Amino acid sequence: MKIKVAHFFLLTVLCVLPVVGQASQVVDQQHPQELAVLDFRNESFSDELKLDGKWNFYWKQLINPGDTASKKGILVDFPFRWDGFVLDGKKLPAYGYATYKVKVLLPPSSKPFRIMMTDVYTAYRLFINGNEVASNGRVSTSEAGFEPFWQYHEVDIPLHTDTLDVILQISNFVHSKGGAKKSLLIGEREHLELHRNRDEAIDLVLTGCLVMGGFFFLGLYLLGNRDKAILLFALFTIVYSYRTVGIDNYTLHSIFPDIPWILGVRLEYITLFMGIGLFGLYTRYLYPDDIHRLTVKVIWGLCILFALSSLVLTPFYFSQLINPFLLIMVFCLVYIPYVYTVAYRKKRPGSLYALMSSVSLMLVFSISLLNYWLLIPTMPLMSFICYISFFFLQSLILSHRVSFTLRQAREQAEMGLIAKSEFLSTMSHEIRTPLNSVIGMSHLLLRQDPRQDQIEKLEVMLFSANNLLSIVNDILDYNKIEAGKITFEHIEMDSASIVRNIVSGLQGSALDKGIKLNVKIDEELKSKLIGDPTRLYQVITNLVHNAIKFTQEGYVEVSVEVLKQDELEAELCFKVKDTGIGISEEKQRIIFDRFTQADSSTSRGFGGTGLGLAISKKILELQNSTLSLRSEAGKGSTFYFTQVFKKSLLGSEQKSPEILEPDADDMPLKGVHILVAEDNPMNVLVAQKFLERWGASIDVATNGLEAVNKIDPSIHHLVLIDLHMPVMDGYEAATKMRAQGIKIPIVALTANLPKEIEEQVKNTGIDDIVVKPFLPDELYRKVLHYTSKTKKQP
Ligand code: ADP
Repeated sequence: MKIKVAHFFLLTVLCVLPVVGQASQVVDQQHPQELAVLDFRNESFSDELKLDGKWNFYWKQLINPGDTASKKGILVDFPFRWDGFVLDGKKLPAYGYATYKVKVLLPPSSKPFRIMMTDVYTAYRLFINGNEVASNGRVSTSEAGFEPFWQYHEVDIPLHTDTLDVILQISNFVHSKGGAKKSLLIGEREHLELHRNRDEAIDLVLTGCLVMGGFFFLGLYLLGNRDKAILLFALFTIVYSYRTVGIDNYTLHSIFPDIPWILGVRLEYITLFMGIGLFGLYTRYLYPDDIHRLTVKVIWGLCILFALSSLVLTPFYFSQLINPFLLIMVFCLVYIPYVYTVAYRKKRPGSLYALMSSVSLMLVFSISLLNYWLLIPTMPLMSFICYISFFFLQSLILSHRVSFTLRQAREQAEMGLIAKSEFLSTMSHEIRTPLNSVIGMSHLLLRQDPRQDQIEKLEVMLFSANNLLSIVNDILDYNKIEAGKITFEHIEMDSASIVRNIVSGLQGSALDKGIKLNVKIDEELKSKLIGDPTRLYQVITNLVHNAIKFTQEGYVEVSVEVLKQDELEAELCFKVKDTGIGISEEKQRIIFDRFTQADSSTSRGFGGTGLGLAISKKILELQNSTLSLRSEAGKGSTFYFTQVFKKSLLGSEQKSPEILEPDADDMPLKGVHILVAEDNPMNVLVAQKFLERWGASIDVATNGLEAVNKIDPSIHHLVLIDLHMPVMDGYEAATKMRAQGIKIPIVALTANLPKEIEEQVKNTGIDDIVVKPFLPDELYRKVLHYTSKTKKQP
């Protein structure tokens, strides 16, 4: 299809081009003697007029004012290019010289007139009423004295002049065309001045837009995502900007009048060839899957060839390349919109803008082609609008493309984060499940009167397993904080008891190291506060744990001070001070970052992941507090933070007496029948050992469906159900049981963190959660609590 379109178009152009090319060569030779006169006496001059019409033309003669022609002239239609014209049976060459003459009759006018002189091939002298009024380069009868030059000139006619004897000498010894191709314009001075100023302004505005746009996209490419389409568009824009200011009106030559002719003409051709090539290549990178790559390669190759030729050949040769190149241009004019149409049909990003821009592109090229073939006049404003809308729409494609890439990258990053989160969550579940067995079995063995040497080994085992558990918890916690999923409770808490509990829990570790662990609670701290006890517990435990870990001698002191308080609020300062190894000043800046430790060698000795402080800091920051540090290497450290809490308006609650696991001989759960639904045999074994130790009897189901089938309200008092099981998970099984009207308490056993699943658990009719690896005391408390209601006496 693509090839067919191309063939069709090339054929059309090949047929049309020669016909159009002849248009300017029609000449009247019937009245050679006649003096050419352009009579404008009846013209109103409301608009500028072209000095087009019959002119006398004297080949191989440079006639000065007052001179008489040595040979007879002929009448030609001005503007008139002599190259290829047949005179006296001979085709005229491009190289040569001639004089054009005409008499212009003007109407009486109160306003002065002006003539706009356009560029000719390739040097001229203009005389009006005997005076030389404009020139470009040096006109000569031979190559020796000849000099080409292009620059815009205007000639002011004195007021009340009614006749103009116009003599135009032109010579060319450098270009493949000779003579005058464009019309000279005449009009009221004011009018033409406005006309020229407007043309120059349009050229400059357009060039400014293109250059700025080009450099903007170049910067985007260099500093951004290195998208080749962006680079090629930037280069295309910069290259093409020369054409908006360096040809047609030659505005650039007006600003810099000394631009050498040869440089100007080479740039004019090179920018055209390279511009088209770059645009083709840009389209190839913009929609690579919708374009015929070989076609683009061939076009690009040809463009490079044409551009190189313009660089090395003489103007006589490379200026002849324009006609074959027009074929490439016209082909691109059809092929590129075709590619955009395909891209649009395939819903490529930005293809709608591309399609719209191709309409502007078609218009702009059609205007310049038709103007080149002299079929229409120059349409500066129309071209300007088309150019601007073309470049604007193309910029939109690239902006769309950049934002599309960014959006894609963001989505990928988000998906990556979700994947990471899910991975960590799964891993934690997988690690917690075997840990459940290790911790559970260690507890059981410790309760079965082991020997002294066995006690030591079991304690090491339990310690290591608990350590592993806290690392898993830390990683999960950090992951949750990063994903912004952490929420805080606002419940009543006794901060003094929390601190005391932490200290008494860690007293053993301090004693083992031979250091003192002191606690100082401000006596002013009497009322209960509203906050998140779990997170407060976590932060202080982490700080005290570190203090003990990094202190070899001396003491660790935990204090709570009331900084200020009123009836509603209290501001507390929590401090953990130690006389340990301390932290040097430069390390103080990094230890709050995740996975960093002050000194990896010493820390390796102490263990840890470098996550604790990062988590504590984030937890406090999310509650508008800051974790601070005062420390000196070798002298110890003080970590502290202040936090404002609302006071609880409720009276102090009666604390429920702590229920601890019973002795082995007591059988408090005797007669209790529990259905345990759990797929992991190790976990079944651990639960079974504990429950049977307390006197309960159990039935086992290895998945949710089996549990639903096995449950019998007349036998069972409680269901302990794992949430992740094959065939049917715990959520579905619980929902089914509740739907069947079974009212027995259901307690979920899960390796997930309770907060993550709280909502879902509630919705499925599950009464409570026991987190694996479970602590024997907690399991006992919950089982006792729920079975005390349903237990039937044997
Ligand atoms: P971890 O203790 O697991 O390595 P943390 O984030 O809790 O991770 O601590 C980061 C680092 O900060 C520790 O490895 C240690 O180098 C330093 N650090 C923390 N607390 C103390 C302390 N009380 N005394 C000396 N160094 C400490």
